[in-house]
Amino acid sequence: MGMFYSVYCKKCGYRNYLNHGHGFLYGETYSKAMNDGKEGKLGEEIKNFLLMNPEGIIDVEFRIAQCQKCGEYASVKALNMYVPDETTPKCNKKIVFPDEIGYYYKLYKEFPHKCKKCNGIMKLVPKINDYNLKCPNCGDVILECRDEMSWS
Ligand SMILES: [Zn+2]
Ligand SMILES: [Zn+2]
Repeated sequence: MGMFYSVYCKKCGYRNYLNHGHGFLYGETYSKAMNDGKEGKLGEEIKNFLLMNPEGIIDVEFRIAQCQKCGEYASVKALNMYVPDETTPKCNKKIVFPDEIGYYYKLYKEFPHKCKKCNGIMKLVPKINDYNLKCPNCGDVILECRDEMSWS
């Protein structure tokens, strides 16, 4: 299930819209991303990863990322790379769902997201509900966060 949030700073008026999770077309998104990945559309790193790890997968869920340099937030496809571990069922599944990634796969490498504003490195933010997002402009001011809707 996916969530759509709007965040707002009372002090400076900063506003941003952020997605978390995935929509009901997850299977389609996943297959497309895996194909794009193999074709190099998601960058050399993912292309090489999928080439070297035929059983490797990528996480295509939307996450909220924060720039380590300027503090800006953005919704990004996680694109972290995972490989099977000992617990992974041996079957040729076409689609691996996010729950299964958590159970059966181990993180191989985090995808390096770049900030569109300053080109800094972005880090994925854990669940937005458990996390107070701070305004990129005002620093310490906590953004107001509203659930706009769920897209399931
Ligand atoms: Zn602000
Ligand atoms: Zn930045």
